[in-house]
Amino acid sequence: MTLRTLADLTLGQRAAGRTALAARWIVGHDGRGHRLVENGEVVIEGGDILHVGPRFEGEVARRIDLGAALISPGFIDLDALSDIDTTLLTVDYGPGWATGRVWPEDYLQGGPREMYAPEDLAFQKRFAFAHLLRNGITTALPIASLFYRAWGETVEEFEAAAEAATDLGLRVYLGPAYRSGGMVCTAPGVLEPRFDEARGLAGLQAALDFAGRIAGAGQGLVQPMLAPDRVETCTLALLQRTMAAARDLGLPVRLHMAQGRMERETVHRLHGMTAPRWLADHGLLHDRLIAPHAVEATPEDLRLYADHGVVVAHCPLVYARDGEMLRSFRRCREMGIRIGMGTDTAPPDMVLNMAVALMMGRAAEGSGTGLTTAEVFDAATLGGADALGRPDLGRLAPGAKADIAVFDLMDPWFAPTVDPIQSLVFGATGRVTKAVFVDGRLSMREGVVAGFDEGAARVRAQAQFERLLARYPDRIWGHPQLERVFPPTYPKMR
Ligand SMILES: [Zn+2]
Repeated sequence: MTLRTLADLTLGQRAAGRTALAARWIVGHDGRGHRLVENGEVVIEGGDILHVGPRFEGEVARRIDLGAALISPGFIDLDALSDIDTTLLTVDYGPGWATGRVWPEDYLQGGPREMYAPEDLAFQKRFAFAHLLRNGITTALPIASLFYRAWGETVEEFEAAAEAATDLGLRVYLGPAYRSGGMVCTAPGVLEPRFDEARGLAGLQAALDFAGRIAGAGQGLVQPMLAPDRVETCTLALLQRTMAAARDLGLPVRLHMAQGRMERETVHRLHGMTAPRWLADHGLLHDRLIAPHAVEATPEDLRLYADHGVVVAHCPLVYARDGEMLRSFRRCREMGIRIGMGTDTAPPDMVLNMAVALMMGRAAEGSGTGLTTAEVFDAATLGGADALGRPDLGRLAPGAKADIAVFDLMDPWFAPTVDPIQSLVFGATGRVTKAVFVDGRLSMREGVVAGFDEGAARVRAQAQFERLLARYPDRIWGHPQLERVFPPTYPKMR
């Protein structure tokens, strides 16, 4: 056995025999919680962790010393950005109805158009998955906007997503988003609901067929989930059948609710109460339900989440940009609410999201003791695993999956380390991710993902985004010029 470096491993593959990874810092797990190991080793065998602790005394095929690095469980992203990020088009610009985030009625009447070609949709997911890996995320539940779609997501694009996850080596929970309808703009600032029950139920059926086919694909990397779109786009019948199927098949369900002002107003108008109350009254809250983002949740909504074991997917970055926050992370935990985390926007950076979670969580409590780094790190790892019912994820312990992120604490931009978790979170960037293993396979090394040309992909992503923008006026009330919809930060110089 000789001492090796990461460069000796084949990118995109699982090495034969045992691999010992040594580092100055390791986040291990002792069965009760994360524990820091100083100058220890993690040993991978196949797709699993064999050992975490001091130097392993048994036989290994290779030993890699990562030096002043942090070996950490990979992050679990419950609301993982999986398209070319269009939430950026909602920040700093007008209300949704004036900026193409609500369809004008004439657009719906004319038949909403699919704004992406099938190859665009397949590319988006591959692009996003590579970015998640580059940020130390090893398990992802993709999310994308339906505003740009003819209706819901398609089974074909999710088959392409399963293929991308298998090719790149990312653990995923996949389910095409479906819905019964949504709001349309009938006059400036006036929004009206429009539903098509049959179309929603057909979407659920397609998602269930897909779930049955896809479970365990990619040597177990691909698992199914159910993804009804935001609560205000779903009828009661659609949600009742979704939750019944989730229970029968043991699937996680993700449903956005208590997350936006338009949603809150719409649900009130349709059902006379908040979304969590509406679901609770129909027996539809349960412990496999993942509910991003809870920033609009009332105290009663939060109580219902706690009582029914609902998991909040906390995505602080995308909300902080709009000056909004969960109130508060600590209070939710004290109520007994389960919290996992998500990225939901670009950059799909969980380290940055942990930093924002910490800052906003403390701001919400008005105190530096209002949230700890450990609570946030737990949410990004153990909280996600708990949400998925996966005690073999989100931790480094014997028998757990070898889903690992390695962070470079000697990055020249980083301050000297007193505590590795504090350094990482205060450093606030996933760009220090040196390597990622998923299921024992080296999926990313020094920013490179096997079979993925980052430079070419970036050019293609820009072109796709510009094509999308060019078609924007067509689907905005009054069809204004693009520059009026998205005015520049400064006036352009003449
Ligand atoms: Zn979201």
